[in-house]
Amino acid sequence: MQHINSAYINGNWYPLKGTDTFSLINPATENCVAEVTMASVADVEVAIDAAKIALSSWSNTPNHKRAEYLNAIADEMQARYDDLVEAHVLSMGCPSHLVGAYHLDCAIEAMRYYAELAPMVDKVEQRENNLITKQPIGVCALINPWNYPLHQLVGKLAPALATGCTLVIKPAEQTPLADIIMAEIVHKIGLPAGVFNLLFGHGHEIGPVMAEHPKVDMISFTGSTRAGIEVAKNAASSVKRVCQELGGKSAYIITEDADIEAAVRYGVEDVMANTGQTCNALTRMLVPKSRYEEVIKIAKQVAEEQVVAEPNQADATMGPLASAQQYKIVKDYIQIGLDEGAELLVGGAERPENLDKGFYIKPTIFTKVTPKMHIAQEEIFGPVLCILEYNDLEEAIEIANDSQYGLSSGVYAKDQAAALPIAARLEAGQCYIQGSYFSMHAPFGGVKQSGNGREWGEEAMHEYIETKAIICP
Ligand code: NAD
Repeated sequence: MQHINSAYINGNWYPLKGTDTFSLINPATENCVAEVTMASVADVEVAIDAAKIALSSWSNTPNHKRAEYLNAIADEMQARYDDLVEAHVLSMGCPSHLVGAYHLDCAIEAMRYYAELAPMVDKVEQRENNLITKQPIGVCALINPWNYPLHQLVGKLAPALATGCTLVIKPAEQTPLADIIMAEIVHKIGLPAGVFNLLFGHGHEIGPVMAEHPKVDMISFTGSTRAGIEVAKNAASSVKRVCQELGGKSAYIITEDADIEAAVRYGVEDVMANTGQTCNALTRMLVPKSRYEEVIKIAKQVAEEQVVAEPNQADATMGPLASAQQYKIVKDYIQIGLDEGAELLVGGAERPENLDKGFYIKPTIFTKVTPKMHIAQEEIFGPVLCILEYNDLEEAIEIANDSQYGLSSGVYAKDQAAALPIAARLEAGQCYIQGSYFSMHAPFGGVKQSGNGREWGEEAMHEYIETKAIICP
């Protein structure tokens, strides 16, 4: 078994002083993969100091030079592709043949995309006599969840490096392996010391220190709404910028005249991808009463086509849930759904028959779900789809917007022209129409309790940029 005792701070592997450890469990085998030392508050101070010291030099590095570093990181990520695949298999149980598509390819491309955007920070706009300039916001604390470890990291790291910020990064306790490879990569390509600092730790212990710290200028947090609120409260005393990317319970409206076969297939596959652990998954499918029988027939068929299997099985479409904790949460929600009167179309809380260990769960679909049920309002974060019926489009839009969340949404109508006006009325930061997929060029983020940040696209650069106006005579 591996022991991970060191963080990457100030360009070196730094022995953590914390005494507590966290056991990394392979969710497919339930075996311990590694013991990870959790950082102490003193370790966090060392990392923040390193980032602060490195800031002046890094932020003054010419943008073309910063872009070269980003491209070099992308090259090295490509060279370490197999290691990054293994990290996702070991820590998340993702089927190995799907890791590239779900977790790696976009992350590598994104490093190159933000390299191209690096000059943005030096653009000066002249407005009347005034010069509107930009500068990197400074030292940034990045806190991430476990469901897309590399993708989430790169969504923050790439624009932050491109703008000239320095970083202190804390991955989720369960998934440090991809981040460690990224530290090895930045070390190999010679990123200046102190620009990229990585440590591991319990969110409730070191998260508040990162959020409160006066030397941290901005905190970008992705995770649950509960922890996001804590981060914002802790950050308030130092008046730093807070970027929150939080939970979701996204609605997906299928209209009466849509291609039902294509729409339902897309919707079910969307929820089952990454074993349902996707913040923007379209987990509430709203279907017209008139097409209900057809919908459930197709939905059942698509769910039954899913292959829940060990990550190395070539035809696996779903691996286990990422942790024992998540396994319990999802099983409990399935029971809650049954208790509140929803009907199981397929799936359930028992482990699939072909597997006798691991945190595996069956693709699960509930029908007869009503809008106020817990399973219709709360994020389950597993492969559990709720199907709700509606009478007319007005009712569908009302049900869709009846949520504390507003991360994503979807519409499948007769065609794009019919989908667009419905998309415009949905209270969410994104809307996927006619079966479309994630694009790193599109800003990603929520409204309501799904957060206030925007990652990806050019908008991600603005999270790490401060505007400075120079008023000329
Ligand atoms: P979580 O909030 O428990 O943990 C996320 C991270 O926050 C971890 O690194 C954790 O250690 C840290 N943390 C926990 N408490 C903290 C505190 N008080 N202060 C600072 N940091 C703290 O969430 P999770 O279970 O790891 O992740 C799943 C959640 O993340 C879901 O709600 C999902 O929707 C959300 N998510 C959102 C997005 C998005 O872009 N909007 C993307 C992925 C996941």
